[in-house]
Amino acid sequence: MPGFYVENFGCRAARADGEAVRERLLADWHCTDQPTDADVVVVNTCSVTAEADRAARAFIRRTNRQNPRAKIVVTGCYAQRAPEELAAMAGVAAVVGNSHKALAPEIVRNLAAEKLSCTTADAHAIVSVSALLSGGNRAPVWVDDRFAHSFLEEAQLVPGNQTRPNLKVQEGCGNRCTFCVIPQTRGSSRSLSGAAILKQVQGFVAAGGKELVLSGINLGRWGRDLAEPSKLPALVSEIFERTTLPRLRLSSIEPMDWDADLIGLMADFGGSRLARHAHLPLQSGSDAVLRRMHRRYRPWHYTEKVAALLRAAGPDLTLGADVMVGFPGETDREFEETVQMVRALPFGYLHLFSFSPRPGTRGWALHADAPVRPAVVDERMAALRALAAEKTQTHRRSLIDRELQAITLHTPDALATQHRTAALTENFVPVELAASLPANQLVRVRGIGLTAEGALQAVQLTADQNQYDAIATPV
Ligand code: SF4
Repeated sequence: MPGFYVENFGCRAARADGEAVRERLLADWHCTDQPTDADVVVVNTCSVTAEADRAARAFIRRTNRQNPRAKIVVTGCYAQRAPEELAAMAGVAAVVGNSHKALAPEIVRNLAAEKLSCTTADAHAIVSVSALLSGGNRAPVWVDDRFAHSFLEEAQLVPGNQTRPNLKVQEGCGNRCTFCVIPQTRGSSRSLSGAAILKQVQGFVAAGGKELVLSGINLGRWGRDLAEPSKLPALVSEIFERTTLPRLRLSSIEPMDWDADLIGLMADFGGSRLARHAHLPLQSGSDAVLRRMHRRYRPWHYTEKVAALLRAAGPDLTLGADVMVGFPGETDREFEETVQMVRALPFGYLHLFSFSPRPGTRGWALHADAPVRPAVVDERMAALRALAAEKTQTHRRSLIDRELQAITLHTPDALATQHRTAALTENFVPVELAASLPANQLVRVRGIGLTAEGALQAVQLTADQNQYDAIATPV
């Protein structure tokens, strides 16, 4: 039986794609633990930054060096954005863009069977001039801008390697943020049907699943493109009405898609069946920068959304955001506006990015005109990192002595040998639980402190105990 290996780069949605390819191939292949043992290595790339491209190329070179007999199939956003760059790399046997991702398992099988003769629809070989001149590699490429074969529905999700798997329900994006390459690499917004999603959720619950994460490239846009258009709040309501899923978590949602209906669901189900966790990409606290980014809100809209979410979910809500540093032309004053906004809002964590000019985006030209010096970017990033760490600690400290719901996770050996269990609270805080429990258990816990790594130390509460009298292994 041939062996394959999948290496994933990038976001939740990309990892869901990689998981779906893996599940499909497992039907008649075995998955190796290392790329060095595989006949075919699938590299599922990201292209959100220049660094992501560099990391993918390094992985491809290393794989080819360490396992020259392996056929390397490159897919994902980098494959969609610059297929010929990858098709020319040594060891690459096929490049499959997001436009053809649903065909990746078949292409891998054909490769192994040396049957890669363009039998697959749309296959065409882009001959890169440099490859011809260098007599180098020239892998066939499956890429176009129609995205007809792009939605790779996942095999039935079950609680397994991942206790809280992603269910990717939306693909692509119709927005045009000036720094972002994703609309190019993933096409316009497309949704998985409500029926397919419900079937997944019911199957997951039937398999003993407790928590599911709804994800997408622009999740808040789910349903608008369906034959019978719908919206995310309607989907969430239907999941609560027609399944017994104990907990649903929503991944990143654009600020303006937290509409009154979705916030209403947070008020009704927050803390019970809906995780009190909201990730709203902010990017900048400066109105001028947001305008140059073509973001669809002003700083005060963002603040209003956060206030409405806090009213709905209460102070235990964990608020997360993406913030970008060094967008072209960003002045000291504009950066200070970002710092002030981050300081003013109760973030529980921040994902920080430095601007990376991407070919084909408006940001590329803006960067050529007004780049922010790397030293300044580093300085600003350091300042925001320190502030983010402070905010995270403040948020987690506020949960000490609080009673919280949590789900147990697969516990690393180092912790398990100390009779401790890794868990995640319903409001998205990592926990170190003073108990030895298997994964995928819903538990009530009481926060008692913070670990050296900043996780919440907690004890388990039994069914009839409230937060004040706890069973505890002496801490
Ligand atoms: S909303 Fe903006 S940042 Fe997000 S995927 Fe779409 S274009 Fe990119």
